[in-house]
Order: sequence, then C-alpha cells, then structure tokens
Amino acid sequence: MRLPIRKYGDPILRVKGKRIEAVDEHIRLLAENMLETMHAANGVGLAAQQVGEALQLTVLDVSQVEDRPSTLKLNGEAVEIATAMPLVLLNPTLRVAEEKDSGSEGCLSFPDITAEIDRATTVELEGETLEGEKIRIEASGLLSRALQHEVDHLNGILFIDRMTSAAKASVASKLKRLQKETQKGME
Ligand code: ZN
Repeated sequence: MRLPIRKYGDPILRVKGKRIEAVDEHIRLLAENMLETMHAANGVGLAAQQVGEALQLTVLDVSQVEDRPSTLKLNGEAVEIATAMPLVLLNPTLRVAEEKDSGSEGCLSFPDITAEIDRATTVELEGETLEGEKIRIEASGLLSRALQHEVDHLNGILFIDRMTSAAKASVASKLKRLQKETQKGME
C-alpha cells in the first residue's frame, strides 16, 4: 500500500526515530509499504518519518539511477548494486569519510526543490536487516550520499540543514510556500 509522504512543515520530520527493538508484523508491513511508496515516487530513499513514523527504519534503492554510479561492500564483500537493492535498514549508525564532494540532491518531502550539497564521498554503516541480522555496509557514490541523507532523516535532520546559506537563500521562497501549504493541510 502506498502511504502519503509527509512534506516539509510537518513536525514529524524533526523527530528523532526510536530504536526498533523487535521486528513485528507492524514493522514488516511498514517496510513493505515504504518500499512501494518510494518506488512509486521514483525516489532513491525513504525514511520512516516521511510516512509519519518516528522510527529508526529506512529503505533505499539506487539501482535505477544509471548516470550516478555507486559501489557497495556488504559485510566486507564487494557486491553488484543491482543484486543488493532494495535495502531495508534498521537502527543504522554511520561513520563518514573526511573527503567530501558536492552533488545534486532532492527529497520526497520537498517536491521541486534541489540543491548542491557537500557529503562524504564514502561511508561505513552498521545496522540491522528486517531478518534481525547485523549488516555492515561500505558505500561510495550515490549510495554514500543517499545513506547520509536517510540517516539524517532518522535523526530529524533535513537536507536544507546541510545547504550552504547561499543555496538555502535561493530556495527560501519555495520553502516558505511549501511549509505554509503543509500546515494548511494539517489544520
Ligand atoms: Zn529526504
């Protein structure tokens, strides 16, 4: 089932996700619905907050983006992106490399807004799968960027927080309009 995507201005986007201690039917169904919602929206990632649940749960799929490559190691072993996607990650923690690069970024909670954002070129993530197994991911390229974006969401951090002040100024009027629209819809 597709879920409505929460937009900027909805306070849930600022709530840090709660750790998931046990995978029950609710979590399994939520993950399934998040995957369907992300794919339907042509997104590369979606965090639980974006569908109204403040939990440490995110889904990703970068396999459809051919012009922005990624590399991935799963538990130390290099794997093909296509075979490893989609990813469903619980309780992730990130270690980011010092080296950064700038790249274009958008967010399903901010329709029609994109900006160049500096992110670490590579990351190491530790988390859990839906099956309750520990997973270690080393990623570069678009997947590195997407993992940083999604783990930020799980901590209540949004990509506008990572924009330079110049980039933020350039989208300020769009942001204000979106926030107003969202808040009007919630009344
Ligand atoms: Zn986002």
